[in-house]
Amino acid sequence: TNLIDIKGVTHAYQTPNGPLPVLDNLNVSVPEGEFAAVVGPSGCGKSTLTRLVAGLMKPDQGEVWLHGKLVKSPRKTVGMAFQNPVMLEWRTILQNVMLPLEIVAPGMPKKQRVERAMELLDLVGLTGFENKRPSELSGGMRQRASLCRAIVHKPDVLIMDEPFGALDAFTREDLWQTMHELRAKEPFTAVLITHDLRESVYLGDQVIVLSGRPATTQYVLDVHYPGE
Ligand code: ADP
Ligand code: ADP
Repeated sequence: TNLIDIKGVTHAYQTPNGPLPVLDNLNVSVPEGEFAAVVGPSGCGKSTLTRLVAGLMKPDQGEVWLHGKLVKSPRKTVGMAFQNPVMLEWRTILQNVMLPLEIVAPGMPKKQRVERAMELLDLVGLTGFENKRPSELSGGMRQRASLCRAIVHKPDVLIMDEPFGALDAFTREDLWQTMHELRAKEPFTAVLITHDLRESVYLGDQVIVLSGRPATTQYVLDVHYPGE
């Protein structure tokens, strides 16, 4: 079954110079547990697509379905990770990772919240760093912690907007490996926006190429390997 279904979505932004058409009859389906990588030139509508999935805006036409429900308003069940993770400096790494649980599951006992956060920090290789402050970690480590924070409450979908864009090539490839390890232990569905074609085929189960103005789905590349 599809976790995300974007059906015939058309959208224009209203600007002082008139409507700016951005998406034209876009169709995207992402099965549960899969990663969709979205590539395309700057300004083609990638962020717009993620805002629609997160329920931050409504399309002019068409429908966005998430987990069998029509998306009409912002969803708590969507996790987000960005190029420059915003971490609270007055909180430790562990406390930062636990934050979404405090919001989404306020009744969860503290011991369980700590256990859940520690489990994820362990999966991304950050055991021993849980009591550090964000500024004491490298960029790659902060990004690892922000991935943990984005999925700690088991959102339906994780949206990543250029998550590794600010990292050097070596750190970035380490993170790709970590993503695969994380997915093996903790399956989740994700939309990954990237400018890096290697990253899109390495991490995506499908690569969606957005192009044209307004953009429509031009190509969908299925990158499942034989035997998968
Ligand atoms: P991408 O993420 O692929 O760079 P965006 O989805 O951010 O593209 O933007 C697509 C187009 O819509 C761009 O031309 C951008 O300037 C324009 N745009 C994005 N957000 C708004 C907005 N809130 N109001 C008006 N125009 C916007
Ligand atoms: P990105 O390419 O990473 O999506 P942008 O620089 O295109 O970032 O946009 C950054 C923010 O500015 C977004 O929230 C977008 O909605 C807004 N934005 C972009 N273009 C316009 C525009 N022409 N008018 C109003 N807001 C815009």
